[in-house]
Parts: sequence; structure tokens; C-alpha cells
Amino acid sequence: MSLAVPRNRERGIIRSEPAENESRILPINAPLTAPARADLRSPSWAESVRDAVRDVAELERLLELPPRALDTLPAADFPLLVPRGFVARMRKHDPRDPLLLQVLPRPLEAEAVPGFTADPVREQGLADGGMIEKYPGRALLIASGACPIHCRYCFRRAFPYAEQLAARGGWDAAIDALRARPGLREAILSGGDPLSLSNRRLGELVAKIEATSIRTLRIHTRFPVVVPERVDAGLLDLLGSTRLDTVVVVHGNHPNELDDGVARALRTLRPRVGALLNQSVLLRGVNDSVETLALLSERLFECGVLPYYLHLLDAVAGAAHFDVGPDIGRKLVAQLRARLPGYLVPRLVRETPGELSKTLIG
Ligand code: SF4
Repeated sequence: MSLAVPRNRERGIIRSEPAENESRILPINAPLTAPARADLRSPSWAESVRDAVRDVAELERLLELPPRALDTLPAADFPLLVPRGFVARMRKHDPRDPLLLQVLPRPLEAEAVPGFTADPVREQGLADGGMIEKYPGRALLIASGACPIHCRYCFRRAFPYAEQLAARGGWDAAIDALRARPGLREAILSGGDPLSLSNRRLGELVAKIEATSIRTLRIHTRFPVVVPERVDAGLLDLLGSTRLDTVVVVHGNHPNELDDGVARALRTLRPRVGALLNQSVLLRGVNDSVETLALLSERLFECGVLPYYLHLLDAVAGAAHFDVGPDIGRKLVAQLRARLPGYLVPRLVRETPGELSKTLIG
């Protein structure tokens, strides 16, 4: 049976602001068009995204694999996108490399699996002006639909960004939604990846949040791990000067992602924020061994980052082949506890639709 991935491209939204860097970055589920490719005047991090690999044959060549060595699926709605700096961290000649498996569209994605849906955490349609209030006291802003990489297991791979983006209307609807809920204390910038926004656009958003009663700004981002040059002077200034308490949660799944360039970026970021945390997804064939998870925690700590969450896979259509399951997850975390100090053991969690917090598994 073949899987139907919803078509929900958001090109009109992202590209409606042509002066901005983020307008040139690939929305999470849309291919870059030729005009956008030709009109880039962007800093190096945006160039890294623009120049990302989008073609499996090129990936094979860079990894020194024979032509057609990689069994792939043409995935028009969520195409291959991987920056060259991330490819450089993959092992050559190895079609099972754990970084490669995170980005390679495989035929397994086309298998429909009961329980795996386009909206696994049932959040589509919940956004009020791009703001989702999932948990008490915290609001999540869908700040951008663009990403520096396409992770095949992403639970928002079919999210309808075109309709539910906080950037629409200059953030006003999202900020109004924040103001309308005075109990909120923390704004979480999510996406897509909120660091797809230029520093100027991000600064505008942060200034608007500062003018509310929000106290804490949390940014969920894969950029510092995937494109470490995103941690630039403008971003550091912005994070260092806001009145808001800041938390940055990066996303790395395997120790091989954290090379020296990433370590430098994270160590530079660390003193500018109140907390620097990591969340990972437990992925079959990628990081489902205690050795890998222990190395990841230790390497994160070397980079100034504390392991925060290890997520069980959200049941998103197309990603069932990554599923590890709670029993193995519990066993792995118990083994981690036996090896590592408590502060290096991430909390194993699952997101359950309708619950007021993530469910702690072990
Ligand atoms: S996991 Fe994050 S970076 Fe990866 S595709 Fe999803 S939103 Fe983008």
C-alpha cells in the first residue's frame, strides 16, 4: 500500500518577504525553485543551506559510493535536503551511516503502517495566529516553516505551515494570542527551524515578545548542530541582550554530528544563554545502542550542552522504520544510568496528544 503524504507547500508565505534571508531557505516540505536559487544575497549560513545537497546521485558521489548504491524513494513533498557540512561528517563508503540514514528518503517511507499518521501529535489546526498553547504556562510559536535539513523522522513533515505560521501579518496575530493569555510565562520558538529567520527578523519577533509579560524565551533549533555557522555575531548579540531568560534546545541524535566546528559553535553559544540543552529522537539504526547514546551524552557535555530529552518516535507516516519502542527505550536508559552520572542521562519521553506534559517513560 502506498503512503499519501499531504501536499501542504508554503512557498507563498515564506517567499512573500524577498528581502529576508529566510525567504531563500527551503521550506520544510517544498523544493527550492530556480528563481529563489538565483536570487541569493545571504550570509554564509544561508549560503550553506542554499548550497545543500538535494540530489541522491550527488550524495553517492560525495560519499564515494557506486552509482545507485542507495535505495531511495522520490519524495517530492519532503525532498532530500542535507547541507554539505553535515554530509562531510558521514562515513564514506557506508550506506548504513547513522547520519545518512537520518536524511535519506528510503522506499520504506512508502509503506503505510497502522497508527502512523500525518499529524501524530494532533496539533494541526490548533495554531491561533501561529501560536499553540499545548502545555500550561507555555506557548509555542511556529516561527518559520523552513529548515536547514530534512530529517526523515520529523513529526511535522506534513505540517500545514502555509496556514499556521506566526510570521503571517508581521507576528501580530501570534503576539495578540500571547497577550490574550496572561498566564503564559514562556514562549517557545519552533517550526520548521526558528533560526531560519534572519537575525533582523528574529530580533523583531523577540522585541515583540519582550513587550508582553513573557519571561522566558526558548528556542528549539537544529541549526547549531547542522549548520554551526548559524551561531554568528548577530545571533549572539541578540541572545545576550534580551531581557528575557533564554533557553536554547538543540537537536543532535548521534555523536558523529558533533564535530569540532559544532563544538566551537556550541561552546560560543553557551555563555550567552541561560541554559543550553539537547533533545534527541531514539531512532532504529541510528542511535539505538547504549554505546552510541553514552558517547552522545559525553560529547554534548564536552560541547557545553546537557542532554535533556530522548524522545520516543512520534508516529508520523513514513517514519515507522525508525521506531524503537518503549521497552527497548527503557532498557537503554537503564543501561545509561548504570554508566553515566545522572546529569548526562536524558529523560525518555513520549508526546501523547491531549496530555498536559510529555509522558515520562523511563
Ligand atoms: S526535525 Fe527539526 S530540523 Fe529536522 S525537519 Fe523537523 S523541524 Fe526541521
